[in-house]
Amino acid sequence: MLNIILMGPPGAGKGTQAKKLIAKYNIPHISTGDMFREAIKEGTPLGKLAASYINDGHLVPDDVTIGLVKERLSKDDCANGYLLDGFPRTIPQAEALEVIAKEIGREVKYVIDIETPKEELVRRICGRRVCKKCGAPYHIINIKPKVDGICDICGGELVQRPDDNEEALTVRLDAYVKQTKPLLEFYKNKGLLTTFDGSNSSDLTPKLIAFLGE
Ligand code: ADP
Ligand code: ZN
Repeated sequence: MLNIILMGPPGAGKGTQAKKLIAKYNIPHISTGDMFREAIKEGTPLGKLAASYINDGHLVPDDVTIGLVKERLSKDDCANGYLLDGFPRTIPQAEALEVIAKEIGREVKYVIDIETPKEELVRRICGRRVCKKCGAPYHIINIKPKVDGICDICGGELVQRPDDNEEALTVRLDAYVKQTKPLLEFYKNKGLLTTFDGSNSSDLTPKLIAFLGE
């Protein structure tokens, strides 16, 4: 069963790899970041609360995040497994996930940690632009759209995420080191952790598929 967690600092390429993996394996991509951004777009109470943390780079409180994931994991489409992207990010979240996963009978099998040098993270995040309409990612130097500022796929406007600036990124990297990195030890001790090099994103996908199996 493919019950997978993708971990790594902001900009490591978790979202990019997740999209490639779910195209191959028939499991849902559960990204807490995407779920929060969706709620923000819709202007729901959850979105309003989440925005007050996310925009300057802080983590959303554990109780809120855990509740959201618990609800999502209990849906039927997780029957063949799941790909968690950006959750858990704290020890309390990881502990809550243990309980939830047991309850639904789908315990975590692989924790994939994508490591990328800090200079590369900064370069990727500060140059990142995303389509306002469909969410497709671009980069001002590496992944330019055909027409400046316009999405190749849907014609939507390309924008910068409010938390993709140097100031918020400093807060995000700090949160990663202090709150998320301890999880590597947590999963290593359980024998679930495998680390991959994320500096070259197109090289990484075949490696992940070789690791997870056909
Ligand atoms: P990145 O990994 O590039 O920072 P994400 O889309 O995964 O991007 O997350 C964006 C933001 O959403 C985070 O900086 C944080 O504020 C919030 N968030 C996402 N997942 C969690 C989580 N598991 N716990 C708390 N906050 C989260
Ligand atoms: Zn688009």
